[in-house]
Amino acid sequence: MYNQLEGKGLFGLGGKLTIQPEYQRNYIYSDGGGKKEQAVIHSLLKGYPLGLIYFNKVADDKFEVLDGQQRITSIGRFVTNKFAIMDDGNPKNFDSLPADQRERVLRSPLLIYECEGTETEIKEWFKTINIAGVPLNDQELLNAVYSGPFVTLAKAEFSNSQNANIQMWSAYVKGSANRQEFLERALEWVSKGDIGGYMSAHRNDNSINELKTYFNSVIDWVSTVFEDVKKEMQGLEWGKLYEEYHLQSYDSKKVSADVNRLYADLYVKKKRGIFEFILGGQKNFKLLEVRLFDDATQLSVYEKQTTAAKAKSESNCPLCALGHDASKGKIWSPAEMDADHVTAWSKGGTTDIVNCQMLCKTHNQAKGNK
Ligand SMILES: [Zn+2]
Repeated sequence: MYNQLEGKGLFGLGGKLTIQPEYQRNYIYSDGGGKKEQAVIHSLLKGYPLGLIYFNKVADDKFEVLDGQQRITSIGRFVTNKFAIMDDGNPKNFDSLPADQRERVLRSPLLIYECEGTETEIKEWFKTINIAGVPLNDQELLNAVYSGPFVTLAKAEFSNSQNANIQMWSAYVKGSANRQEFLERALEWVSKGDIGGYMSAHRNDNSINELKTYFNSVIDWVSTVFEDVKKEMQGLEWGKLYEEYHLQSYDSKKVSADVNRLYADLYVKKKRGIFEFILGGQKNFKLLEVRLFDDATQLSVYEKQTTAAKAKSESNCPLCALGHDASKGKIWSPAEMDADHVTAWSKGGTTDIVNCQMLCKTHNQAKGNK
């Protein structure tokens, strides 16, 4: 049963077999000029085996294709004239093949395993299955291992490329519905990272309310705190940030001004760090990777400081020179010193030679705030 309409699914065995679920068209073999789907048909015509196909038994008389989706889809598409194969330089679709060849395609035997087993057994099969074909990613594998009502409902929401929310989610979550990446994030957030454990515990649930509510809470929170959507927001660990900061209140107007000020600051190397930096109260400067003084600047400042210090017989670390202990007169080597912003970057100091001083490592660390 091959429905022309996008989003209507692909079924076999009189409806007992889900080849591609209704909400998910995931056909990859037609990429790259259709070489792979043609190869499937050429194999059948030559009588070559297509390799093992696995069905996952999900209920009495109900199966999902575990491995072989692309091959079966190729056959389905070919016999309904969706693509042609090249035959001596001429394209031939199914209807234009001679009767004996059509018969050969339709009567090709396929070797199929119906898998019904414990989670451990299913995982074991996958080690074999994943060697060939389009490899399943982690979430696709978990979906098969924990197949059941929960996964079916969860996929209908998060793996549905027709879902109108996808565009909004994409601002914060990286990936595609087809490859299960929205589902994976939703599960990761609600489970605090234990996706397999969560799926196992909820496998037979007939509701995904908790999963959906939690995911929406995270997305709502991010979009409320940060009014501006920046491309660097995509793929950040919003679930973790939500857990840590959602009980704090933020003035979204001020947040917006701060985001844009930091975006415009040429010394902020890591734009992706701006959001967590603001959520954390603008204290953890490491998140921003503020640009440091380059080697030439550091050496030039070192030479100048050291020459002046030697003339006065005091330490070339200005803070050591102020002290009363043994290092008062110590001349540190360049390797024993670090560059410091005289006026901290956070207080408006620039990463420029006039704002650079060399301090011994101890004093530089003590000063801290870069
Ligand atoms: Zn010092």
